Amino acid sequence: MERFTALDEAINREKIDVKFPSARISDYFATNVFTLDTMKRYLAKDIFKRVKSAIAGGKKIDRETANQVAAAMKAWAIEKNAKSFTHWFQPLTGATAEKHDSFFVPDINGGGNGIETFSGDELVQQEPDASSFPSGGIRQTFEARGYTAWDPSSPAFIMEIGEGRTLCIPTIFVSYTGEALDYKAPLLKSINQLDEAALPIVRMFDRHATRVTSTLGWEQEYFLVDEALFFSRPDLVLSGRTVIGQSPAKGQQLDDHYFGAIPERVYAFMLDFEQEAHKLGIPVRTRHNEVAPGQFELAPMFEEANIAVDHNQLIMDVLKRVAQRHKLRCLLHEKPFAGINGSGKHNNWSMATDTGKNLLSPGSTPKTNLLFLTFFVNVIKAVYDHADVLRAAIASAGNDHRLGANEAPPAIISIFVGEHLSQVLDEVASRVKHGKSDEKANADLKMDIHKIIPDLLKDNTDRNRTSPFAFTGNKFEIRAVGSSANCALPITVMNTIMANQLKAFKKEMDDLIKDGESKDGALLRVLRRCINTAKPILFEGDNYSEAWAKEAEKRGLNNVKATPYALDFFETKKAKKLFTSNGVLSEKELEARTEIYYENYVLKIQIEARILGEIAMTQVVPAAVAYQNNLIENLLGLKELGVKKAALASQTALVETISERISTIQENVHAMIEARKKANKLEDAEKKAKVYCDEVKPYFDTIRYHCDKLELVIDNEMWPLPKYRELLFVR
Ligand code: ADP
Ligand code: MG
Repeated sequence: MERFTALDEAINREKIDVKFPSARISDYFATNVFTLDTMKRYLAKDIFKRVKSAIAGGKKIDRETANQVAAAMKAWAIEKNAKSFTHWFQPLTGATAEKHDSFFVPDINGGGNGIETFSGDELVQQEPDASSFPSGGIRQTFEARGYTAWDPSSPAFIMEIGEGRTLCIPTIFVSYTGEALDYKAPLLKSINQLDEAALPIVRMFDRHATRVTSTLGWEQEYFLVDEALFFSRPDLVLSGRTVIGQSPAKGQQLDDHYFGAIPERVYAFMLDFEQEAHKLGIPVRTRHNEVAPGQFELAPMFEEANIAVDHNQLIMDVLKRVAQRHKLRCLLHEKPFAGINGSGKHNNWSMATDTGKNLLSPGSTPKTNLLFLTFFVNVIKAVYDHADVLRAAIASAGNDHRLGANEAPPAIISIFVGEHLSQVLDEVASRVKHGKSDEKANADLKMDIHKIIPDLLKDNTDRNRTSPFAFTGNKFEIRAVGSSANCALPITVMNTIMANQLKAFKKEMDDLIKDGESKDGALLRVLRRCINTAKPILFEGDNYSEAWAKEAEKRGLNNVKATPYALDFFETKKAKKLFTSNGVLSEKELEARTEIYYENYVLKIQIEARILGEIAMTQVVPAAVAYQNNLIENLLGLKELGVKKAALASQTALVETISERISTIQENVHAMIEARKKANKLEDAEKKAKVYCDEVKPYFDTIRYHCDKLELVIDNEMWPLPKYRELLFVR
């Protein structure tokens, strides 16, 4: 049987040795990246200066300069053995996309061998055959035109695949009519919006700052499964998760024995992808801890958000590719195994100035602490106002299995700030006056805030692991993001709601100042208003508890568990106003991408339904029938021998139970197919997603339940699919 051949193969696998180009990481870090330092070596001084300042200021690069940069990139890439180049972009399918072109142009006039070329035009803009990428109706297929356009703020890099080397140019992807069709374009807009909104406030404290950026440090969780076992699970191959499988009797603790130390094969895999990541300039420091058996995590140092997003997209590719080299498969699905921890991707998010200040880092003086408090409170108010949009931004079919399940945040967005900061917020809320401020009282309050905040730094252990959105000392950690997600979406939302909030904040302050209030007085009074309004979203208790779900409802916080309903939050008037008034997405763009998210949901559930039906009918039921036949034969033999009826009772009952389960599975698989047919008739993506969610998906649990029960009684030798204990056993 395939299962046993696969097990044999997995057990006898040799580890693959990893060679290092040098003992020191610093010798090869970012060698495959066209960094500013590299660019400097290939460009004339004045051109380099022009490019550098354009990048730093988020400005356009003119054609002539682009030609020079293209020539420099080509020279560098060819020295590094790259034969082709590609615009690298992030369509809404969730994966990254490329279309490779060769540098080489043959000489068709017979004059010579031909030459390698790469012009500024080719660097700046390309027209991939984009008809197969989702556009939510923006781009009719007959138009089939979309453009990729160079993003100079993220450096080009060389992707090594086997002996192949390709120069990859990070780009945005837009339709012929200018609408964003990707994740990066709105992210870049949100970064600029945040800069614009935050700078005037920062400058009240720091007159040297000229730019504010958002920073992101992601933590990527993943599972590893042996390749042979992976291929014997059609559900893993097609949907990335197991649609059936009895979880090990004792759950995660059971496997401490196997998984306490990192198996050598996995360790070799880690060294290998770390090396690739380092060459690509991704500053990873792997964490070797695993929560569930077979589960691992890696995290880099945080970076400017646009770069961090690109690096996360890249690392997901690298993980999958390097895993294959080690005869492993890397699972990025949010819930590959039921009953066992899922995988998330914590997004640590903050804001920083070009003067090197982290705006969510408490300071050492009353003034810097007031700056910190201002940004801190504005984040809380922004999330309070737009928690629903943030919820929509983390919604996916995969994440639905994780949110609210084992050790994952619930679908309710709340904020944890810890004891010290709660106290600071209380002080501001209670001590700032309603009317015109009293300067002496304000000065005292500022001193008291300053006295409380240093304790926060000393006691950074005040953490609440159950919160979906937690302040962790110098940044907020968004914990509800799914492991396979593109971080761009939640980060775009964070930047946008923050920009929106900071603009409103500044306006309220200015209004008070116009009425004769002092600057400090105005700041404190608006902070107080924000705190009082946003209070209901602050929660310090156990987010996993039943009590919280009830309490949250009383507070008016939404608890939307299923993706098609969470996506509705992108369609509200409030959401439309948020994205359009801040210039991040037009109404058309927002509608189009929401439609794509509904479609993605339908596709995922459809695939899972098909594969579940197929496995149940073609693998589980036949195994059950075969085993049942053995039992029947045995029973008949025993009867012939004259064994008493009473002694046959339990075996007879087992035959009956198996029969019942088989019919229940068959009936439900048929009913699920009918439900799917009904859903498929619907044209509207939103309605279709909801019918898939409410009428197709519920069959999954029933079918699975009976399959898993059969797994528990059928002869192990006859069970066709690798079991959980085998899949999770990576040596
Ligand atoms: P842990 O949460 O495991 O205790 P750390 O507190 O060191 O670990 O940081 C967790 C993550 O937060 C890291 O990935 C790091 O890059 C990121 N991080 C730290 N500072 C910032 C920041 N200012 N902005 C964004 N991310 C940050
Ligand atoms: Mg974390």
